[in-house]
Amino acid sequence: MGKIIQLDDRLSNKIAAGEVVERPASVVKELVENAIDAGSTVIEVEVEEAGLGKIRILDNGDGISEEDVLMAFQRHATSKIKNDDDLFRIRTLGFRGEALPSIASVSHFEMKTSTGDVGSRVVFEGGVLQVHEAAAARKGTDIIVTDLFFNTPARLKYLKTVHTELGNITDIMNRLALSHPEISFRLIHNDRKLLHTTGNGDVRQVLAAIYGVNIVKKMVPISATSLDYQVKGWIALPEITRASRNYISTMINGRFIKNYPLVKAVQEGYHTLLPIGRYPIVLLSVEMDPILVDVNVHPSKMEVRLSKEQELNQLVTDAIKKVFKSQELIPSGFIQQ
Ligand code: ADP
Ligand code: MG
Repeated sequence: MGKIIQLDDRLSNKIAAGEVVERPASVVKELVENAIDAGSTVIEVEVEEAGLGKIRILDNGDGISEEDVLMAFQRHATSKIKNDDDLFRIRTLGFRGEALPSIASVSHFEMKTSTGDVGSRVVFEGGVLQVHEAAAARKGTDIIVTDLFFNTPARLKYLKTVHTELGNITDIMNRLALSHPEISFRLIHNDRKLLHTTGNGDVRQVLAAIYGVNIVKKMVPISATSLDYQVKGWIALPEITRASRNYISTMINGRFIKNYPLVKAVQEGYHTLLPIGRYPIVLLSVEMDPILVDVNVHPSKMEVRLSKEQELNQLVTDAIKKVFKSQELIPSGFIQQ
């Protein structure tokens, strides 16, 4: 007999979880992204002890049919892509089919889901199916994750304080809400409401919910178009600054991403208007042909590779510069509306 064996599903999912589920905030991100992909209009996230006590995600999206429910927990099982071509034209937030099996393999995972027909309830414990039964129907999906990382002690140790982990969750929720103003989001931590957006489609209201009305009054719109890119956003006047780059949120085709050159391009747009070590509050949304962006760089899908990156960065820098040039000409009443 040879020495090489194929790992069983439970173990390979646990290994994959190491990449997909870094911390409680990653669970929130993956599950809320699933809720968004399912066409939800209301998404509620309830968290206890920064996600280590409990994470509950409730959505009113399409739900999973009785027939598909176990398949959703298979590795690389997805309803979002079918072939090579689809991989290069991704419009959904998910496509790797890894989140559900990964999260279920490192937690106690309970899901009730229904397409409006007969619903299902499944429970996994460390990736092992414990319960699979029919359940009362209400269209949408309700997931409760408890005991996160109970079987990965090193990961549990690596986590920071409740304060830091909660900060990560809030950050993710803010960005998801900013990228989807048409969805109503609610984030509750230990019974305290941390975020509530109405879902009326007005991104300024989402900005206000996150940063406060007074900041939003000091933000101005930008927009620019080039051959390949369409850029829209809101940028704070240089008098409003922050000590970290975290307040520069960038989205590409509705997905928030981390892309250092793009953040640099934003800073470049402000040029010398910002004090050293201070950063602006910016929301930047880029639309482009999905063929020009590779989101399949890392399992968390936060990093992207862009073709024609230079063109985009220049467009962003110029669009911001232009605003501040014209600002002098704009009566101050403009920003107080
Ligand atoms: P991916 O999102 O990459 O497809 P996941 O493991 O996150 O992979 O989910 C697997 C599948 O389960 C999805 O493709 C989708 O069909 C279904 N699914 C997961 N979460 C939801 C949800 N909240 N509502 C409806 N369907 C869902
Ligand atoms: Mg997913």
